[in-house]
Amino acid sequence: MPELPEVETTRRGLIPRLSGKAIRSVLVRDRRLRWPVPTDLESRLSGATIQSLHRRGKYLLVSVNKARLDEHVLIHLGMTGTLRVLEEPAPAGKHDHIEVRLKDGQLLRYADPRRFGCWLWAGRDWASHPLLASLGPEPFDAAFNAAYLHSATRGRSASIKSVIMNAGIVTGVGNIYANEALFRAGIHPLTRAGRLSVERLGELVEQIRAVLAEAIEAGGSSIRDYVQSDGASGWFQLRYAVYGRAGEACRTCGADIRVTRDAQRATFFCSRCQKR
Ligand SMILES: [Zn+2]
Repeated sequence: MPELPEVETTRRGLIPRLSGKAIRSVLVRDRRLRWPVPTDLESRLSGATIQSLHRRGKYLLVSVNKARLDEHVLIHLGMTGTLRVLEEPAPAGKHDHIEVRLKDGQLLRYADPRRFGCWLWAGRDWASHPLLASLGPEPFDAAFNAAYLHSATRGRSASIKSVIMNAGIVTGVGNIYANEALFRAGIHPLTRAGRLSVERLGELVEQIRAVLAEAIEAGGSSIRDYVQSDGASGWFQLRYAVYGRAGEACRTCGADIRVTRDAQRATFFCSRCQKR
């Protein structure tokens, strides 16, 4: 599933190819995404110019304008969505649901086998869109810091892992990176959030940023392949310390990495390196 680093990598890969480009036409083959693709997507986007791409959490926002249109398209990749730019036309596969043809001949193609993604209008003021309005700060925002996380967790008996995966508290920390950041910070994922000191939460903030930045960096080095590819390429991966390593040895202490479930999500940890 694309997480924040994959979405940010997608954004960075698309910006130089799409910014300032005029849209010739749009083709929607299947409107049945998580929510129906608006029926006026084609007519309103045709002839518009793409201004820029923003990211909020795992949402992409494409600014488009033309006469009397100053809008944002809100895109979420869901579980299996990908956006690729093709320089040469290639036959569409059965999961290629949306195509945006640019006047320069390039084609932006959206594929999504499981169709949990979305393409929606977000208006001129995208931040107030219902899907975005209640999101917490971005992990890289100054507003996401030790004091903030400390006050947001007081009195909470929920696990620290479920708290940092709560998009209302901090947006875009998915399961993989929550597991990895908690390992790096030496915090057991099932620790009650309200019991953690401001110092330990500060370390967690730093490690969330570090692991996301490394993943974005890892993706950045493969942007070219990723954006060009028309095949079903997997997402890049960091060398995970705990995620997906149940039963394998912790690289720090040699103990077995364990797995449990927390809030229905697979939760990996080293019981020696990570303290409650
Ligand atoms: Zn260990």
